[in-house]
Amino acid sequence: MRRELALKEVFETARTSALAYLDTWADRRVTPTPEAIAALSQFDTALPDHTGDATAIVAELHRFGSPATVATTGGRFFGLVTGGALPATVGARWLSDTWDQCSALYRLSPINAKLEEVCERWLRDLLGLPEGTVAGFVSGSSSAILSGLAAARYRAFQNLGWDINARGFHQAPPVRIVTGRHTHSTVVKAIAMLGFGTDHIEYVDVDAQGRIVAAKVPPLDRGTILILQAGNVNSGSFDDFEPLCRRAREAGAWIHIDGAFGLWAAAAPRLRHLTKGISLAHSWSVDGHKTLNTPYDSGIVLCQDRAALVAALQATGSYITYSEQRDGMLYTPEMSRRARAIELWAALKYLGRQGVADLVEGLHDRAVQMAAELRAAGFEVLNDIVFNQVLIACGTDTITARTITEIQQSGECWAGGATWHGRPVIRVSVCSWMTTAEDVSRSVRAFAQARDIARAAGV
Ligand SMILES: *Cc1c(COP(=O)(O)O)cnc(C)c1O
Repeated sequence: MRRELALKEVFETARTSALAYLDTWADRRVTPTPEAIAALSQFDTALPDHTGDATAIVAELHRFGSPATVATTGGRFFGLVTGGALPATVGARWLSDTWDQCSALYRLSPINAKLEEVCERWLRDLLGLPEGTVAGFVSGSSSAILSGLAAARYRAFQNLGWDINARGFHQAPPVRIVTGRHTHSTVVKAIAMLGFGTDHIEYVDVDAQGRIVAAKVPPLDRGTILILQAGNVNSGSFDDFEPLCRRAREAGAWIHIDGAFGLWAAAAPRLRHLTKGISLAHSWSVDGHKTLNTPYDSGIVLCQDRAALVAALQATGSYITYSEQRDGMLYTPEMSRRARAIELWAALKYLGRQGVADLVEGLHDRAVQMAAELRAAGFEVLNDIVFNQVLIACGTDTITARTITEIQQSGECWAGGATWHGRPVIRVSVCSWMTTAEDVSRSVRAFAQARDIARAAGV
């Protein structure tokens, strides 16, 4: 067979397999069946000695792989903060995967560079960020936070007359890190990776919703990095940005906002009040793969101090030829990257300003509905539903814990657990564009059934 014909056969198999997968969507369990999990042992083979049949490999992946997926792209997965994938984004991904572009430099992919530029402009516009804000397209918020804080580290040390790139931490003046007690674990990880030491974090107390208490924020200065949060990972709450950012600005401190899923509130008129004052920050991190529903993986670091971001992340080498055009690797820790701005562009182009607002407000509406129906079904709702997160508990901690297990085994829907102010809670995150009002009601019925089983078990 001619090479290109073989290629097409492989892709055709992938296409028909993907479409067959979609056909199972409506009826399938959210989690794989025990049989599907058991069948994964099919993959426990020795490394083949010889080259195989590409089409057969894709077919095998579909046969044993598709049933062992978690249906996070459907409407009844409420775990972590995952998000589904809009068809326009998956379609764009299929095509761009075929292109296999490396997005390090303009010369390697003019199309990617163009769409990064367009996304950067559109994101500034949608989120209301200052002119001159640049964007780096990374794998997720973990990486975006690391990048934003690397820029912050560079600038804060520079403010103290210290070049951290050249001189490192040995005998460096102290740069302080101030953040809320509910800061996300990936922020803490980034602080550790950047060499600050987590013991040196100045934690600020939070209120009942997980927001930083402004009165408890210590004095700030030019050598301080203040890290705020748009969307508490459990309650969905937002820090009170405007007064905090004003204070930090006056003191000359750097402000980073972790808005992994919550920053999108800025693009929704009904929820925009939650993000008032964010434009006063210096850097922001946000995901495409959560609220915006692009496929994995997609994170964005935004920074209004381009020089600091580039100084923190730039690499040089005689073979790297920067151009007059946009060279994506200037804004990211990686050199070679997949061209993930393409799906981001597809999401924004497809939804438009109104569609983004409808998507984000729709997630909020479903969360409000979920809380109301859960309350009516006798659950305790523990947080204010400001965005897409709902925290609930049953009569006792043991019944709550058992209910989570029963929900997860039901296959009807999926929710995880967390600890909220010392109490185990069921944690619901509404983040898929697919979730309908009926999905919510159906899931609430499954929650109630799971709780009844837990109660009957007498735990
Ligand atoms: C999900 C999340 C992160 C980490 O994002 P990834 O995209 O998983 O790396 C950071 N902060 C918050 C608030 C999150 O919800």
